[in-house]
Amino acid sequence: MTASHSGHIVIIGAGAAGLMAARELGRAGKRVTILEARDRCGGRIYPLPAAEFGYPAEGGAEFVHGEAPVTRTLLREAGLSLSPLHGRRWSVKDGALSQSDSPPSHAGQLYQALAELEADLPIAEFLERHFAGHQYGELRRAITRMVEGYDAADPARASTFALRDEWMDRGPGTQGRIVGGYGALIDFLAAECRRLGALIHLSAVVNAIEESGGRAIAYCDGGGMHEGDAVILTVPLPVLAEIALPPAAREKAAACAQIGFGNVVKILLRFATKWWAEAGGRDLVDLSFLLSSATVPTWWTQHPAMDPVLTGWFAGPKTDTVAHFAEEELVGIGLASLAETFGMTLDELKTGLVAARAINWGNDPFARGAYSYATPKTREAQSVLGTPDGGCVYFSGEALYRGRDMGTVEAALASGLERARTILATGP
Ligand SMILES: Cc1cc2nc3c(=O)[nH]c(=O)nc-3n(C[C@H](O)[C@H](O)[C@H](O)COP(=O)(O)OP(=O)(O)OC[C@H]3O[C@@H](n4cnc5c(N)ncnc54)[C@H](O)[C@@H]3O)c2cc1C
Repeated sequence: MTASHSGHIVIIGAGAAGLMAARELGRAGKRVTILEARDRCGGRIYPLPAAEFGYPAEGGAEFVHGEAPVTRTLLREAGLSLSPLHGRRWSVKDGALSQSDSPPSHAGQLYQALAELEADLPIAEFLERHFAGHQYGELRRAITRMVEGYDAADPARASTFALRDEWMDRGPGTQGRIVGGYGALIDFLAAECRRLGALIHLSAVVNAIEESGGRAIAYCDGGGMHEGDAVILTVPLPVLAEIALPPAAREKAAACAQIGFGNVVKILLRFATKWWAEAGGRDLVDLSFLLSSATVPTWWTQHPAMDPVLTGWFAGPKTDTVAHFAEEELVGIGLASLAETFGMTLDELKTGLVAARAINWGNDPFARGAYSYATPKTREAQSVLGTPDGGCVYFSGEALYRGRDMGTVEAALASGLERARTILATGP
C-alpha cells in the first residue's frame, strides 16, 4: 500500500459511536471523513430547542445509566457534570397513588430460578417454564411490563441471561442526567473531531458501499462519493439493511437478524406550572417516576430541576399499534393517559399546556426504532460483526457493544472506541 493511500477512514453516521471513533482515529493521525444523513450530529441523542421546553429537553437519550466509564471519562474531559437522579417513585393502582418501591410477589423465587439457569432462552419461555401457575400472574405481568417498557424488547425474543445481568448485577454508579444535556457532550465530541481535522458532511445519506482494489467507496444520495482505506458503518441496525454492501460485508451483516431492536415513543409535555406537586392531595413535589397501567404507562419529571415538564414513555412491540399515528395523535394519547393516571379531565390537563412533542423513533428514517436488546444469539452475532476479516468495511454502534448495557450511549461510545482501536491495530 502506498503512503498516499494509507489512513483515510470514512465513517457513516455522526452519532455517539461515529464521533467517538473519529476522534480516536484523528488522534492517531488518520484522515477522517464523516458522512451524516441528518442536518445535525448526535443521531439518537436529540436535544429539542431550549425555546420550546425551557431547557434543551431530550427527544432521545436522557439518562446516564450506572458505571458508564467511557461516558464519565468524556464528561470530565469536556468539563461537564452529572446531576444525580433524586426524588420518589410513585405508582397508580385502581386509581390510587402509592409509593412504589416494593418488588413484585415471588421475587425471591424469580431470582433463585434466574441464578440457577444454565442455558439462555427468551424471557417469555423462561416465565412459561418456571412461573406458569395462576399464583404467578402478577410476577409475569410485572416482568413483561419491565422488558417491554424499559428494554423496549419483545419478551418472545429477549435473552433471559442479559436480563438477569441487568437486574441482578447492577454495577456501581448512580443514574443521572448531564447538566446541559447529552447535546453538550455531542457538541464537545464534534468540536474535538473538527479540531483534529475530521470533515463532517451533514445531509449526506449513504446508500451504498463498494470495495475495489482494497479501497472502500461510499455513495450518497444525489451522487456524492467518498473513497477511503476503510469504512466504518455506525448506522442503527434496521437502517443497515437499506444500504447496499459488498458481498462479504452483506454476508456478515446478516448476523444483525440475531440482535433485537425495539421501539420507543417519547412524549414531552411542558406546562405553565408543576401542577402535579399537589395532585390527589398528595405531596408529589419530589416526584421522579410515575408508573400506571394507562396506554402510556411511564412518566417522569425533571426533578430535582424545577422545569414543569412531564415525559411519557411508550415502548416495545405495542408501539406497532400507533405506527401510522401523526404526532398530534400521539400527544393526544399521552394527554389521555396522563388524565387517566391523575384522575383529571382532558380539559383540566390542557389548561396550562405550553408545548408538546411526541417522537415515534420507529418512524425516523435514519433510526427506524430506538435501541437494541440482546436475544439468546446476540453475543454470537456481535462477535461475527466485530471480528476483522481482512476487508475494509467495519461495523460499530450501540448494538455491537458486548458489555452489559447495550442499547445505551455508553455502549455506542465504547463500541466506537473499540472499532477505532481495531483499525489502528489491524487495519489500514
Ligand atoms: C427515545 C430514546 C431514549 C433513549 N434513552 C437513553 C438513555 O436515557 N440513556 C442512554 O444511555 N441511551 C438511551 N438511548 C439509546 C441511545 O440514544 C443510543 O444507544 C445511542 O445514542 C446510539 O448511538 P449510535 O452512534 O450507536 O447510533 P446513532 O445515534 O443512531 O448514530 C448513527 C448515525 O447514523 C446516521 N445515519 C443513519 N442512516 C444513515 C445513512 N444512510 N447515511 C449516513 N448516515 C446515516 C444517523 O442519522 C445517526 O446520526 C435512547 C434512545 C432513544 C431513541
